[in-house]
Amino acid sequence: MHFKCCNIYARVYVNRPGTAFVGWCPRCAKKVEVKISPQGTDERFFTAG
Ligand SMILES: [Zn+2]
Repeated sequence: MHFKCCNIYARVYVNRPGTAFVGWCPRCAKKVEVKISPQGTDERFFTAG
């Protein structure tokens, strides 16, 4: 996942229900969530701000 806030990449993880990717910016610790569509996604990288 690309964190716009710090222009940095970091790993994110699927949450327990499997409904979203959740991660924290390694630089400023901002939490981000990206919902996973029911059809799944082909996206390998996400951008979150
Ligand atoms: Zn940040």
